[in-house]
Amino acid sequence: VRTGLAAELRGLEGAQYGRYKGLVGRWEMPGGELLELVRGQSDPYAPPARVALHVPGRLAALPPELWRTATRRRALSSYLARQAAHAVRGEKALRVDAGGQEVLERSSCTVSGEDGSVTLRLGAALPGHGRRIDGREAERLLCQVLPRVVERALRYAALDADEVQHFVETVEDSVALRDALDGLGLVGFVADGAVLPRRSGVDDRPATGSGVVPFASPDALRVTVELPHAGPVTGMGVPEGVNLVVGGGFHGKSTLLRALETGIWDHVPGDGRELVVSRSETVKLRAEDGRRVERVDVHAFVDHLPDGSDTSDFSTQNASGSTSQAASLCEAVEAGARVLLIDEDTAATNLMIRDARMQSLVAKDREPLTPLVDTVRSLHRDHGVSTVLVMGGSGDYLEVADRVVMMDAYRPSDVTARAHEIAAVPTGRHAEAESFPGVVARVPDPSSLDAEVRGRPRIRARGEDVLSFGDHEVDLRAVEQIADPRQVTGIGLTLELMVRRGMLDGQRTLAEALDLLDELLADGATGPLLSIRDEDFAVPRRFETAAAINRVRGLRMLR
Ligand code: ADP
Ligand code: MG
Repeated sequence: VRTGLAAELRGLEGAQYGRYKGLVGRWEMPGGELLELVRGQSDPYAPPARVALHVPGRLAALPPELWRTATRRRALSSYLARQAAHAVRGEKALRVDAGGQEVLERSSCTVSGEDGSVTLRLGAALPGHGRRIDGREAERLLCQVLPRVVERALRYAALDADEVQHFVETVEDSVALRDALDGLGLVGFVADGAVLPRRSGVDDRPATGSGVVPFASPDALRVTVELPHAGPVTGMGVPEGVNLVVGGGFHGKSTLLRALETGIWDHVPGDGRELVVSRSETVKLRAEDGRRVERVDVHAFVDHLPDGSDTSDFSTQNASGSTSQAASLCEAVEAGARVLLIDEDTAATNLMIRDARMQSLVAKDREPLTPLVDTVRSLHRDHGVSTVLVMGGSGDYLEVADRVVMMDAYRPSDVTARAHEIAAVPTGRHAEAESFPGVVARVPDPSSLDAEVRGRPRIRARGEDVLSFGDHEVDLRAVEQIADPRQVTGIGLTLELMVRRGMLDGQRTLAEALDLLDELLADGATGPLLSIRDEDFAVPRRFETAAAINRVRGLRMLR
């Protein structure tokens, strides 16, 4: 550990820009924090340097009850990152990745469970006059602005004590609620009073105004759950089994499903979805024509293709809407999904339904597709995989649904009894399958997941949609539960971690490798992922990582 960073920077005034590299390492700052230049910057146009500010526990002085558990530490870190981002606003050279409405584990800020010390990681564009070092400005940024960030954002004395406590307790309640689902036989919960609609498709904050209808649960599905801080909360419990959401267009069906979709993540106070949760093994599915599929057994949904290809070991470079959705469903179950969400708006109709009239017109042996309506019950009964389906356009699901919820002007009601009455009148439709046969576990070839380009790893996110991984551009547009662009970076680093640590070893199945991954990351994912590269990232779930692996164009499965 060196001292005298300020003097050092002053001394570098006007020197060649490359000499910044000599500062890489740890510096003790006068205030007692440690400034670590983790990675330098080779020239003024290169990606910013990486700086870590380590604030010792006695300096941060955060009460231990705020960082006692992993959940509390994640919440507290998220809160501190937001404070730090606020404290550097206006400084263009500094960027703290604070995140949006979700409270994710991210690299920008971590709190140690051992001593309550805080580490803030950020990008710092090191200042220059052209290719010469601007030492005075660098001194201002690193030795004045950053210590001020510590002073204002990372010390308990500077925080609003009630606000930080509320933030932590809000997240803890969400986690408690999610953890309670299993024991209650539920896959999701939507609290009374929750605000589900968002401001716009590109603005994830809650909708505002007099037109917003807060959620109100139907009597038949109302459940009360006791939470550690909020006490008893009531709301709609979404039970295990086959759940159908019906109702007219624009009545709020997709909005409800989207709330369940993001219910795998915790939300900040004031978001409106703090107490909207779903099981962490919930996966949203959609059609995604054009995607690649590598050796997936989709024969439960697609069989007897006109070209005679074997759909129990099915590959394509260019899947259709229906085969892509069938493959994504099988892959999700393979990766461990226990709840599947499907919205008619983004589903392939021909994979969802085939009504009586079409069954009469087109004989089964001329139709490769078996609609989900015929296997969805077995998915739950035989495989323990529940579903929530938004389906306003076809009554065929009334027969197979355990529960039917109708949305009417954003208000849900339970119409199960009526739906079953209607379904009792035969339509002449006959089932096309007895059961869902299960999924075949595949073994990825790690050599087909190579991040290196000319000897150096390339892992880069382009927004929420594309991951550059080695030579591959992985299209993640259809992976809708990615909550944050930095999570795409997190997916890339996770993938590389799985390869480097030999989890994907050419022997293990993908599911086994994902189990090892979860085990390794259980005590905190940031450390292991930082060992791949110091970068702004948010930690993904295994399902998003699996979805990315499945979308790598060059992926090979050994079996
Ligand atoms: P559907 O899927 O039934 O066609 P959507 O969920 O897409 O309907 O909702 C239609 C519109 O209504 C959207 O613009 C959405 O933001 C808005 N909306 C949804 N729920 C509410 C609500 N509770 N209060 C106010 N507006 C809502
Ligand atoms: Mg819709």
